[in-house]
Amino acid sequence: MLDDSEIERVLVMTAHPDDVDFGAAGTVSLWSAAGIEVTYCICTDGDAGGFDPAVDRADIPGIRREEQRAAAKAVGVEDVRFLGYPDGRLLSSIELRRDLSRVIRQVRPQRALIQSPDRNWARVGASHPDHLASGEAAMAAIYPDARNPFAHPELLRDEGLEDWAVAETWVMAHPDNNHHVDITDVFDTKMAALMAHESQTAHMDDLQDRLLQWYGANAAAAGLPDGRLAERFLVVSTA
Ligand SMILES: [Zn+2]
Repeated sequence: MLDDSEIERVLVMTAHPDDVDFGAAGTVSLWSAAGIEVTYCICTDGDAGGFDPAVDRADIPGIRREEQRAAAKAVGVEDVRFLGYPDGRLLSSIELRRDLSRVIRQVRPQRALIQSPDRNWARVGASHPDHLASGEAAMAAIYPDARNPFAHPELLRDEGLEDWAVAETWVMAHPDNNHHVDITDVFDTKMAALMAHESQTAHMDDLQDRLLQWYGANAAAAGLPDGRLAERFLVVSTA
């Protein structure tokens, strides 16, 4: 596993606004604080989300982009990119693989953070079909597409984007976690990021209690003492 000191840039690829904040905002805030530059690439605008029927559906994409930008700012992330695919209909298509490969070649990250392409049967809610599709497409973009100069040849030919190999990949919500990050000291920062997704979280009165229970269970499973909180990942070498 790479030490954070070896990492200059991280690229996060997810399906929806708020996915990174539920899965990894604590970890991202620690990376930002360590001087690592983090970029978010969100495949959809989350336009099938929101709970308030009084909000015009046409306004949802703009609202959710703004919420994600605010949540990113809370954890020190300024570079937030949206691919604009329709929410609820995401597929690991060649087009999505190309679009993610483009961003990988633009950002040139040493580390990627993605969603799990494998369904977690113990946490079906974390395995939304869009999450599985975004995880599969991101992994295909990491290996082999972005590093193969002959894949998506238009990226090099038309945009001058050279191949790039992401050395290490962190996977959220995977059943086979092998790494944890203690986020106890940055839990308030993570809460602030989640509360920025007002259209998703404003109606959840018990959000903080649920999160304390969830990340406390993560910490316990990782062998941390009582009262600690953790985010968990599967970390794999993709060098
Ligand atoms: Zn999601």
